[in-house]
Amino acid sequence: MNPMMRELGARRSVIRELFEYGSRRKREIGAENVFDFSLGNPSVPAPDTVRTELIRLLTETPAVELHGYTTAAGDMGVRQAIADYLNRTYGVGVDAKYMYLTVGAAASLTISLTAILNPGDEVVLLAPYFPEYRVFVECTGARVVPVLSNPSDFQPDFAALEAAISPSVRAVIVNSPNNPTGAVLTEESIRRLATLLQTKQEQYGLPIYLISDEPYRELVYGDVEVPYITKYYANTLVCYSFSKSLSLPGERIGYVLLSPRAEEADVLYEAICGAGRALGFVCAPSLFQKMIPACLGLTSDLSVYRTNRALLLEALTGMGFRVVPPDGAFYLFVASPEPDAVAFSERARELELLLVPSDDFGCPGFVRISYCVSTEQIERSIPVFRRLAELYGLTAK
Ligand code: PLP
Repeated sequence: MNPMMRELGARRSVIRELFEYGSRRKREIGAENVFDFSLGNPSVPAPDTVRTELIRLLTETPAVELHGYTTAAGDMGVRQAIADYLNRTYGVGVDAKYMYLTVGAAASLTISLTAILNPGDEVVLLAPYFPEYRVFVECTGARVVPVLSNPSDFQPDFAALEAAISPSVRAVIVNSPNNPTGAVLTEESIRRLATLLQTKQEQYGLPIYLISDEPYRELVYGDVEVPYITKYYANTLVCYSFSKSLSLPGERIGYVLLSPRAEEADVLYEAICGAGRALGFVCAPSLFQKMIPACLGLTSDLSVYRTNRALLLEALTGMGFRVVPPDGAFYLFVASPEPDAVAFSERARELELLLVPSDDFGCPGFVRISYCVSTEQIERSIPVFRRLAELYGLTAK
């Protein structure tokens, strides 16, 4: 048996543990008395077009054709439709021949990392980061190098980043809008990052890949824009997923896309196909591949998240909690009023408020609140947050 795999399976994530505790408590004391903010599971339904297109496909396409294998990288017509949409929307020159359809962003990431990395390589993660990155990187035999972002705005700390990029670094993962902070990388940050990586790869004479994990690309508030990273840096791999934009996390559909400007893009794409093959990620679910062209550019109703964000942000800052207002995703990253965020999360749990401590995100001292819940849950939780603030003697503004 592989002890590393056993350990991964036996040690549940803090998020899952909290979610399972919440499910148990809901059975014990009633769902209305538990305020579960643990999981990033979209709380609004998929747009109607998803259902109507699935019904159309199921009624109009011969079953053998509909449910059969596509090519390993996915149906070329579907990939072309996605590439055309991206080129129209973001003015980029991406090419369907460098796209590989996958079972969600998680698979896009493991394929990308497996394609690029060799044992002993290093991958820079901007902290706080999605905890699964560590698992995905370490399973390739590579090492994680965490670099804490600026806590005032969660943009990269460029001095720390520069110091962290040794000749062993083969990739940097960015995630914008970010889980868990909701921060969106500004165009200036992306330009500085691109310049830094360009300088470093020239200095070391080896490519450094920028992996852009973007399942929250469309979930932004106000007039915030999420720049398309392939425009700024050639050695880029985009890991996208329809899990959050279309509220389809259980259907497992997304893609990896190489920039056509990446060095030796054809060879790198062969490595992507090889990694997909080695990991068994060939032919993403055919029905959901074929649904995509009709749904490009659509999102679930994001107004619920907008309302929840505004309600919680105003209430929590009003009570004296410290939060950097998030520009995207559906998370609030709240500074713990005591140094130990695990202890804070436990105190919140005694009030039936389920908040994820940030230690596994590589940035201790915070809790993450997933506000992809009903607005009614947000409203009912506010007096409970107030009681928590009072326990810590926070001062209302
Ligand atoms: N990356 C980030 C930052 C996420 O938050 C998630 C899921 O929550 C994923 C990747 C995995 O997404 P998927 O469901 O598409 O595999």
